[in-house]
Amino acid sequence: MPKPSSRLATILPSGKDGWEVHFAAWARKQAGEDIVMLSVGDHDFDTPKETVEACVEAVRGGHHHYTQLPGIPALRAAMAKISTRCTGVPTTPDQVIATPGGQAALFAAVQGTLDAGDHAVVVAPYYATYPGTFRAAGADFTVVEAAAEDGFQPRASEIERALTPRTKAILINTPNNPTGAVYSRASLEGVADICRRHDLWLFSDEVYWTLGGGEHVSPRALPGMADRTLVINSMSKSHGMTGWRIGWLTGPAEMITLAISLNLVSTYGINDFVSHAAVAALENDYGVEEIAELYGRRRRVFLDAMRGGNNIIVRGSEGGMYVMLDIRAIEPDCEKFAWRLLDTESLAVMPGVSFGDAAAGHIRISLCQPDEILQDAANRIRRFAAGYGSKAA
Ligand code: PLP
Repeated sequence: MPKPSSRLATILPSGKDGWEVHFAAWARKQAGEDIVMLSVGDHDFDTPKETVEACVEAVRGGHHHYTQLPGIPALRAAMAKISTRCTGVPTTPDQVIATPGGQAALFAAVQGTLDAGDHAVVVAPYYATYPGTFRAAGADFTVVEAAAEDGFQPRASEIERALTPRTKAILINTPNNPTGAVYSRASLEGVADICRRHDLWLFSDEVYWTLGGGEHVSPRALPGMADRTLVINSMSKSHGMTGWRIGWLTGPAEMITLAISLNLVSTYGINDFVSHAAVAALENDYGVEEIAELYGRRRRVFLDAMRGGNNIIVRGSEGGMYVMLDIRAIEPDCEKFAWRLLDTESLAVMPGVSFGDAAAGHIRISLCQPDEILQDAANRIRRFAAGYGSKAA
């Protein structure tokens, strides 16, 4: 075949991608082994039935056609209403653009603001797609690690030290995947201050905003930030709609208008009947409270079961769908720990190092399983940790 573009080949550099334990566990499970999978972050339940019904009705009602490129007007209006609630900044429909998932919103934010050779600062630990999203734009990035000892809160001084003359944006994510850290107002103020002083964009990934366990603070609401913040949002987590692929980007109307041309040349708009179902789900908050309560309870159940666990320290883990356990006192090599946990206790977790150096020596536990499985998993981890010295070769 003729040569593909080098741009595509550089999105994901070859080699280890950090998912080795997960895929090995998955293969063993599919081969019939009884493996508990706490390595992946997708809901273990279906989309709320009211949303499904709204979709069926939309399909039966003939919503089978092309839609407006930035989203049908009712969808933009519903998304703007949720952005007002999420960010605390009154938001109009022309300040939002619907995208196929939060990932596409992030892609639009990066493509819309960074030219090839421009630079961004990405706070780690981070969601796995972030590096590739910058590479796809030909942009450079520097990773700034938020330390486990700080509960994975970002330090403004370290972010500022990473700026270069070509820096145009900072990317943060709160509540955070993978750490579950919910950034404090003080942390966000520190980041906002840098953005204002250096005239930078702030990409704020808030896809877990309903799962923070308390009031959600968006940096978009901080003084002078509405004009330079692009908020990545999604219905995947809050509304239990991962497979529906629907999210949106919120920002200054001028920027959003420019981003419409990306939808023109990529998706040519959002699926018509999914758009109508999404309007119903957003307007009626289908599933939002129940899902937030569910993950809040699961976090408590798991952390209660881990309490007093041998030399294991809980870091971050205030929100989102994950818990981060510091296992350095038992084994500094978290990959080794995760492989042995899989072999000894048939439990699959993600080694923290898969998400950057700051999370090395940790394991990430997904809360996407029922209470009793999480309780049992905590028991397995405690038993495994207690016997680790004797079993470790
Ligand atoms: N941002 C973070 C932090 C995520 O964890 C995810 C998905 O897991 C996304 C963005 C993308 O979400 P979506 O399913 O809406 O594309």
